[in-house]
Amino acid sequence: MKYDFLFKGGRIVDPANDKDFIGDVAIKGDKIAEVSKGISNYLAEQVINISGKVIIPGIIDTHCHIARPAVKGAGYRMLINAGVTTAIDFEGPIEVIKQEIVKYGCGLNVAVLEAVYPGKGIKNKNPTRAELEKVINEFLDSGAIGIKIIGGHYPLTPEATYNIFQITHQEKGYMGFHVGTTETGSNIQGVEEAVKLSEGKPLHIAHVNAYCRGYIEDPLLELKIIMDILKKSPNIVSESHLALHNGCYGGINGNGIPMSYVLRNSLKANGYQVSKEGLEEALRVKYAGVYALRGSKVKYIYGDEAINYWKEHEYKVGICFPINRRRSAQVCATERDKKGNFVVDAISSDGGVIPRNCILSHGLPLVRFCALTLSELVQKISLTPSRMLGLKNKGHLSIGADADITIFDPDDTKVEIVLIKGKVCMVSGIIFNNPGTLIVTQRGANKLKKQEIPLEVISLEESLYFKGKRDESK
Ligand SMILES: [Zn+2]
Repeated sequence: MKYDFLFKGGRIVDPANDKDFIGDVAIKGDKIAEVSKGISNYLAEQVINISGKVIIPGIIDTHCHIARPAVKGAGYRMLINAGVTTAIDFEGPIEVIKQEIVKYGCGLNVAVLEAVYPGKGIKNKNPTRAELEKVINEFLDSGAIGIKIIGGHYPLTPEATYNIFQITHQEKGYMGFHVGTTETGSNIQGVEEAVKLSEGKPLHIAHVNAYCRGYIEDPLLELKIIMDILKKSPNIVSESHLALHNGCYGGINGNGIPMSYVLRNSLKANGYQVSKEGLEEALRVKYAGVYALRGSKVKYIYGDEAINYWKEHEYKVGICFPINRRRSAQVCATERDKKGNFVVDAISSDGGVIPRNCILSHGLPLVRFCALTLSELVQKISLTPSRMLGLKNKGHLSIGADADITIFDPDDTKVEIVLIKGKVCMVSGIIFNNPGTLIVTQRGANKLKKQEIPLEVISLEESLYFKGKRDESK
């Protein structure tokens, strides 16, 4: 047979090739083999009718969290169920992903940014340059494609933050930043500072929508300020998500105060005391929730169930607040510059193991609302993300591209079929046991050669992240 799979009669949306029509997609091995209006059934081993469904290049989630050993691979399952084929884990640890990806990977392609914060890689908020050089090189050697600073939750000094930017850039790693230092916070001031500290070098600013919560100015003004900053900063790549809930660590320090600054702000924002007692009260009245493994997935739990779980785990659990403004989410997802280019490059989930994998379930309503075309949505959830990482064979359905595809029902937003490199990974919620692939740079590949983990080597020099957006001809 000429082809392995033939998907018949779906709406094919492929912005890279300017295609949006009802037709057929054929797959041979791990590649897209043919895309056209009528491919004969006799040419394929398996013919699958997908009329009424949409077929797109696999979703690339540019910001999520997968590595949580306690949940036994739930993050991979939740991502594949949401139609994601490639994901950037925005925290690591890379060592956990390396242990999990073959067993639990669900076929996903995963790149990892390794987080640096006091207690992980460094001792305190103001590490020396030598200390940073050592730890950043260790992380990049272990297979992470880059480094993440979680400044909003665990701020470092501006000096340390600057040094991490510099060293990561020097070592040609990918630099992800949840903004905020000891001088600013997870807000517009943090964004302004981040752009200054980047000195025009490449930087990925995480979940832009999260800095427009009205902590400094009116939230609409904050949105405008951030959009204006990003329009003027071609060295910055960014993504925003559409979820209502945030996610923070529920740990409490020796003084009875929540460790995460984002959690402190979330309590303050709704008039709760910034303390262990304040958090307990917020959990009791179901303003805050806890996320916990329930069955094969992580779910939000509330009230007494949440309080008990939080206490049983000595507060070391994930906490969420419904604090992301809907208007910010919508503007960040759809705002354009004068040339018509999107100001924020991608729509991510910030989900994975956090139950907010709503790229399609919240993205498709934007299409229905005519705020985006379906093709533009695919641009923001697959095509541009592929370029951010320099994944040349992904993000499009050209002949010879990787057969990473997501097929979904546009009416109920449910993902029906996910193929990754031609392998069936999920059908109607049933997940097939395929090993995942770790996306690494050549440096990581050299070190990981002896381990039995499938690898995909990228060249970040070719990425939108490294090249910046100034010379982009769209
Ligand atoms: Zn995150």
